[in-house]
Amino acid sequence: PEILRHRVDVVVIGGGQAGLAAGYFLRRAGLDFAILDDRQEPGGSWQRVWPSLRLFSPARHNPLPGWPMPPQPGVEFPDADHTVDYLRRYEQRYELPVLRPVRVTGVHEAEEGLLVDSPQGQWHARAVISATGTWQSPYVPSYPGMREFAGRQLHTASYPGPESFEGERVLVVGGGNSAAQILAELSTVAETTWVTRRPPRFMPDDVDGRVLFDVATRQRAEREAGVADSGGVGALGDIVMVESVRAARERGALHAHPMFTGLTRDGAVWPDGSAENFDSAVWCTGFRPALRHLRPLGLRRESGRIPTAGTRSIELPRLHLLGYGDWTEPASATLIGAGRTARTAVSEIVSTLAERNRTNA
Ligand code: FAD
Repeated sequence: PEILRHRVDVVVIGGGQAGLAAGYFLRRAGLDFAILDDRQEPGGSWQRVWPSLRLFSPARHNPLPGWPMPPQPGVEFPDADHTVDYLRRYEQRYELPVLRPVRVTGVHEAEEGLLVDSPQGQWHARAVISATGTWQSPYVPSYPGMREFAGRQLHTASYPGPESFEGERVLVVGGGNSAAQILAELSTVAETTWVTRRPPRFMPDDVDGRVLFDVATRQRAEREAGVADSGGVGALGDIVMVESVRAARERGALHAHPMFTGLTRDGAVWPDGSAENFDSAVWCTGFRPALRHLRPLGLRRESGRIPTAGTRSIELPRLHLLGYGDWTEPASATLIGAGRTARTAVSEIVSTLAERNRTNA
């Protein structure tokens, strides 16, 4: 069949919170754009997270630009379903042109723009915003014997909730929030052993999403002013003491061990050579930016990242990267921070396109 070709000013790849925030400002700027998202339904990765996950702060502290998240009745820290519902209503409210499901397979350089390929058609865009998140690139480190282990192994990305682990001996690997929260709930139904590469760094009990955002905002101001960076949220620790994690601490379930040296058919081998049996291992070892679709551009990478000035690729100024974490801007991967980053990206695009129009005229 003939490939459908479309021409727009801007293509946004990814219709999660970062892509929608970009859509809000593109709409306001009056640009012609499309948001391509490979999911069947709105909500981005919030559709996939484990059932008990709660936002780090109350609804009113999680606003996308224009229309803040309404409170979830009877709940202070909203759950993922509420967040998905918010994103669905957000894209309807601003009539954002999200096309689903459209899976972008490659981005190529073209005359006066970039070509965005997908089985559903091809788009020519004068600028591209990549906002594909990290959920599709789960990271699992490699350890000797992993393949031999006869028990169940899974990553945070496919963790289904605690029910199927009842009565098991479970290894939980990782020193971040996902590990702490998954450990907290698994330890209520299973015999858990927590392993981390370095001792876990717990944040003070009173730090929640609001505090994190304020700290990220300060870091952004410091970077802009060119003064010494006070370290951002990382300096506070790695683990937010949400209610379930505090409760696990009270039960004595938050004790972490140094990493095993490897796995065997039946379990783990500890640094002193002793072995212990386990039924399952849950790898809460993080995610990497999902950037496979950008490979055809052959951009230089540094530690897996594409070098940017703010959100803009230094090598390819038509390309912006939004929402992948502190890499493109502090807090850009949070609901409250997505808007600020998107606004800057879109205003840079607007001035570049205006500039090119002038030169072409
Ligand atoms: P995503 O939500 O992943 O959206 C990207 C979209 O792009 C998805 O729909 C994806 O399917 C699509 N896509 C990917 N590749 C392609 C492709 N090639 N073609 C087309 N479409 C594609 N943030 C907070 O503000 N508060 C919190 O409490 C919080 N808790 C978190 C807890 C966990 C466990 C995690 C992992 C993150 C949390 N975050 C939180 C961070 C962040 O808000 C979420 O990760 C959020 O989903 C990131 O949004 P995004 O739009 O960048 O990416």
